[in-house]
Amino acid sequence: MEPMQSKQAAILSIGDELILGQSCDTNSAWLSYELLKHSIITAEHRTVADDRSAISLSIRSLAEQYDLLLITGGLGPTQDDMTREALGDVLNPGELLVEDLQARDDLVQWFSDRGLEIPESNFRQILRPSDMRMLHNPNGTAPGLSGVHSSCQIFALPGPPREMQPMFLNLVVPEIPKVDEAFSVRMAEVHEYGMGEAEAAQRLGEITDRNRNDRVGTTASEAIITARIRAHGSKEHAQQSCTEIADTVDRLWHPYSFGREGVTLASAVGTLLRDLQLTLVTAESCTGGWLSKTIVDVPGSSDYFLGGWITYANSMKQDNLHISEELLKQHGAVSEPVVRAMAEGALGSSQADLSVAVTGIAGPGGGTATKPVGTVFIAVGQRNSRGELSSFVRRFKFLAERSVVRDRAVKSALQMLRFTILNVTEDIPLLWQV
Ligand code: AMP
Ligand code: MG
Repeated sequence: MEPMQSKQAAILSIGDELILGQSCDTNSAWLSYELLKHSIITAEHRTVADDRSAISLSIRSLAEQYDLLLITGGLGPTQDDMTREALGDVLNPGELLVEDLQARDDLVQWFSDRGLEIPESNFRQILRPSDMRMLHNPNGTAPGLSGVHSSCQIFALPGPPREMQPMFLNLVVPEIPKVDEAFSVRMAEVHEYGMGEAEAAQRLGEITDRNRNDRVGTTASEAIITARIRAHGSKEHAQQSCTEIADTVDRLWHPYSFGREGVTLASAVGTLLRDLQLTLVTAESCTGGWLSKTIVDVPGSSDYFLGGWITYANSMKQDNLHISEELLKQHGAVSEPVVRAMAEGALGSSQADLSVAVTGIAGPGGGTATKPVGTVFIAVGQRNSRGELSSFVRRFKFLAERSVVRDRAVKSALQMLRFTILNVTEDIPLLWQV
């Protein structure tokens, strides 16, 4: 196909379970994001029930409106899977579906590889409209379909993401028409944590102006603020403006900005630790291992993470981190002296260069007038070259339910670690710090 100037796509998701809210349509989001990598803008997402006439009506109208239509779902072997028939109604109206010989061979092979009889209903999956081609599915029994209607390229793929995604990448991407390089789209993301969304947006100033050709929008998800950058133009121009804008956002959000697309707080901290050849231990109370889990989620974390202690009960704090009973009695387990003792105790019981400790009241019970639910103390401990230990503490008040308190504690602990490694001065506040 000829290169298109700018290309618009629609995505049609099919299934009663999606319409009824019993499961989520993740395919549309995944596909739109992938298409954008090829400079194709998705203009519409539509979801319809397992209803033959509703499906064919949507296929017809979307094909008339857009250049590319991606369909997922409804290719299973059962009676409620009607995408094949609906496509036939649009591309070859009045005709019966035809059997695909290659698909028959593939189906026979699939079941014989597994030593199984072919259930009669699976033979529905080797039928296609006569003007469509089949797309081989190596991870399931439902082949995909491809064809053209109203000069719109149509691809139908099975619903399960594990089957749909490799088929899209291997069979659809090579066939989608190339967008003229003058109309390229490039994207970038910059993430920050610890500065409120309003201040983050304010710092960006006029670069978020909606009238600009290059778009910058901010979104917040679980307290991570992301600048989503989209630049248009020639391939070089789009790439260059994307990089320039991302660099600017990074600078304006300093020191809260911790990375670009794909980077998490834990991976950003991990990269710094690895580069500086520093090692880390944790001492966790209210986060109960969540902080360590987040650190270990990053592949290669064994390069810098030595381990940690989950000292939920006072007795564990005493026995494992050598915190005195007096200190616990005098200040309470949720206090600055105790979190400091946890961070330094973890360093004392290990060879690590850095430690991070968390103690708090996650709720819903356990709050007091001076230490309400959501009160969390976090300490970062350091061992200097002479072997001396020191620690720095921040106190937070996360006004939220238990899981949110614990999530924000994990994120704040990681950002505090990052600040310490980067020598960010201690007077730079973090959100919810009191
Ligand atoms: P189907 O091809 O309709 O038989 O779909 C089979 C399964 O794929 C469904 O039960 C869902 O678990 C999954 N699925 C279908 N459509 C979607 C979608 N849009 N997003 C995520 N999963 C889906
Ligand atoms: Mg279905």
